[in-house]
Formats: sequence, C-alpha cells, structure tokens
Amino acid sequence: MSNESQDIIVVGGGPGGYVAAIRAAQLGGKVTLVEKSKLGGTCLNVGCIPTKVLLHSADLLEEANHANDFGINMNVNGFDWRKVLKKKESISSQLVNGISGLMKANKIKVINGTAEFTSSNTLSITKADGTKVTISGGKIILATGSVPAIPPIPGIKENENCIDSTGALSLTEVPKSLLVIGGGVIGVEFASIYSRFGTKVTIIEALPKLLPLMEGELTALLRSDLESKGVEIHTEAKVHSVESSPAGAKVNVESKGEIKCFEAEKVLVAVGRRANTASLNLDKAGIENDRGRIKTNPKMETNVKGVYAIGDCLGEVMLAHVASVQGEIAAENAMGMDSSYNGKTVPSCVYTNPEFAGVGLTEEKAKEEGIEYITGHFPLMANGKALIMNGGTGMVKVILGKEFKEVLGVHILGPRATDIIAEGALAVGMEATIEDLIETIHAHPTLTEGVREAALAAENRAIHAINKKVEGREPRLIKELVL
Ligand code: NAD
Repeated sequence: MSNESQDIIVVGGGPGGYVAAIRAAQLGGKVTLVEKSKLGGTCLNVGCIPTKVLLHSADLLEEANHANDFGINMNVNGFDWRKVLKKKESISSQLVNGISGLMKANKIKVINGTAEFTSSNTLSITKADGTKVTISGGKIILATGSVPAIPPIPGIKENENCIDSTGALSLTEVPKSLLVIGGGVIGVEFASIYSRFGTKVTIIEALPKLLPLMEGELTALLRSDLESKGVEIHTEAKVHSVESSPAGAKVNVESKGEIKCFEAEKVLVAVGRRANTASLNLDKAGIENDRGRIKTNPKMETNVKGVYAIGDCLGEVMLAHVASVQGEIAAENAMGMDSSYNGKTVPSCVYTNPEFAGVGLTEEKAKEEGIEYITGHFPLMANGKALIMNGGTGMVKVILGKEFKEVLGVHILGPRATDIIAEGALAVGMEATIEDLIETIHAHPTLTEGVREAALAAENRAIHAINKKVEGREPRLIKELVL
C-alpha cells in the first residue's frame, strides 16, 4: 500500500466528477480523480448520450417514413438494430475518449479503482488490479452518482425479462412488446424509442399523469401524441406483482380498484434512481446522509470539513447538467473561492418526439404556492418552422407574475424544445419581464418565435393565433386557433 497526498480528490468520473476535476485543475489544484468503471459515468455510458442516440435513430426512421409527404421518393427498408447499437457504442466511446484527453490536458491523475473512507479525510482506494492506495490530506469531492432503484414488487428480481434502463439500452433485438413500469422521464423516453421501432409499448404510471413534475397541460398533449402513435398508457395504475409467462412476463396491475393483467416480452422498471453511496463507507467519515443521500449546503459542503458532494449522490435533482454546475461550485469552494448553487434556472428536458422542456414554475406549482400569475399560450401549429419540421402538435406556455409580469416559467412541447428552453432559463434567471421577451427580436422562420408569441398571447396580442380579447377565450385550443 502506498500513501499519497493531493490537493483535491474527486470520487466519480461522471459529468459531476470530471467537471469538478477540470475546474479544480484550472484553479491550480493538484487533482486526482478516482473512477471504478469508465470515465463519463452514467451519462456518457448508460444514460443521456446512448439514449439520445437511440432516440435519434428512431427520429430518422420516423422522418424517413414521412419523407414522401415532402416529395422525397423513399422506400424505407426497415432498420438494422445491430448498426443502431453500434452507432450508440461508437458515439459513447468517442465522448469517453474525449474526457480521457481532457484529464491528460488538465494534468489530472486518474486512478481506476473504488474509493472508501477510512477516516474523515482519508480514502482507501482498491485499484482494478487489486492493489490498494491511501490518499489523505486533501479536499474530497464526492460524485458517485446514482443507480436504478428496483422497487420491492414481488417477482421482479427473479424475472430475467425485467430490465432496467441499462438493460434497455443493449437489448440484442427489438422486443415485440414492452411494458414500462413508471411514466417518468426514463419510461417515456424508452416508450418513444421502442414504439417507433415497432414494439407494442404499454406504460403503467402510479400517479394521475405522466411526467408528474412537468407542466400538466403540455404533459396531456404529449400523452395524446404518444397514444396516437400506438403507446398504451395507464395512469393511476400500480404494478403489484410480476410472474413469468411464455411471452416473457405477466404483470398484474391494480387500477382504480380493478386488477388488470398485461403480458409483455420485456418489462422496463423505471421508477426512479437512488444515490450510489453504499461502497463509500460514509459512516466511517461521519458524513451526514439520509439513507445514503448525502446532505450538503448550497456551497456543496457536507457536514465534514473539506468534504463536498455533488450530483445524483445527493438524491435530489438527478440531472447531468445539475451535477456539472455543482461540480464547478464544489471545486471553486475547495480551492478557496466562495460559490453557491442556485437551482432556479435548471431546465427539465425530455427527448421524445415532440421534445418537452420546462424551466421555472409550472402552473400547478404556482397554484400550490399561492402565487398570482397569468399565462400565455402559443400553439406551434401556427408556427411555420414547426410545420416544416412536421412538429405542429406542440405548444409554448409562459407563466408570468400577475403584477410585474416577470417570467416565472417557460414550458415547451415541440421540435427542439430542449434547445429553445435555454432562452426560458435565461429569462427566469435574470427575472426578465414580458417586455424583455417581446422586445427581443426573434428570427423568422424559427421555432423561437413561439416563445415571443406566447409572451404576446399573455397580453392578448399574439399575431398568429386568435386572442382572448378577439374570441373571448385563451389561445390554447390548438385546432380551433390556426388562422
Ligand atoms: P422519475 O422519478 O422521473 O419517474 C418515475 C415514475 O415512476 C414516477 O412518475 C412515479 O410516479 C412512477 N412510479 C413509481 N413507482 C411506481 C409503481 N410501482 N408503479 C407505477 N409507477 C410507479 O424516474 P426515472 O424516469 O426512473 O428517472 C430517474 C432519474 O433519471 C430522474 O431523476 C430523471 O430526471 C433522470 N433522467 C433524466 C433524463 C433527462 O433529463 N432527459 C433522462 C433519463 C433519466
């Protein structure tokens, strides 16, 4: 065993950890990053990036199937699933290699091993080859991420056809049928992938709506879009057991007092993720946690001096972009600066087709918190670029404070919603007002015009939709609104 001393030790090489390591190195720190598996973590290897590659392949297939509508004579000859998976692997590897290059360029030492506390400021690392090294004396940033949560539903663990999101990314064949337990982000994104590759998909969601934390009015639109594409959705439905069956699995669901049975070749369990801290030995270091979820203050400091924690291992908002920002903050504080995390501008993005993104308050949240607000809606069916992109089913919705008309929330269902939401995040962050959105000239033809039009609609002055003042109703009933 060897003993080393470092300025900064980062545990975990995902988008939280590797960003923290780079920021600390930029500030002059001598940095070691410990990662037990591949650099890039869940995001690059079995999360955001590979999922988005599969979604992009599904988008291409869908577009190709509609190419004739745009005058392109095309006979789509199915797809080659092995090539789809190969593309997914190659993009992930390219990005992981890129992170490796960034570590070298920033002179960050990477140790391939598993770290655990032996005291409040000492980590013992078991390397991949079995040797051990102890590192102490430095500031420690914990960024160990999360793992899929498997609920205690009888029959799930024993059934090999019950898979998690990692399994769903590497199925060797497209299943004939897929039942998804959980209509959250993972459930809805995989439903969007497999339904477009021909799988019969059924979603079982315990709560009354899909994507429970997102803007309800737009969630309802996404639900009908998914249903129109053949996805069967059951809300207020809870899985209470899974049995094996010749098809793969038989799933017993309780819905509104009735028991229903569904058969599917594969069952995707997507009911959330849990903090991945079991191997850290947090108690040895005296780090405060709630069943493994590490507690921090906005400076990302734990209760133990010199130990910080960021990202999914806090068990709060499990998003790569949140982990990365928290990583920068932890690194800055560890290097003597004074930075704090503020989650006000965090966008939530769902990469379905149409995409769904939101930032700031939803209408439901504004009601719950007793905030006085007004809304503006703009249907993307009246946006030229959306129609060109076959994306007319969407909507932009802005939530504004009633008195000062400051932007409290922006929600978009439509093509490129996950890109356009950056404008909403900027507006929410800088407390822009309706006038700021309206006075900003948005290029034509672009999808971003929908954001300006939604702001105009809040004052009954939308140009390309019928306004409340004119028709005595809000411009939200899409089909009745297009001029
Ligand atoms: P989630 O919390 O988003 O959704 C889980 C859903 O399962 C909830 O709607 C919940 O009501 C439902 N549920 C729980 N138990 C159930 C049961 N027994 N029967 C039926 N429904 C049940 O979790 P997720 O979709 O697994 O995602 C995990 C994490 O990963 C989330 O924090 C998510 O934000 C993140 N993620 C983000 C993205 C993205 O940003 N695009 C993509 C994938 C995952």
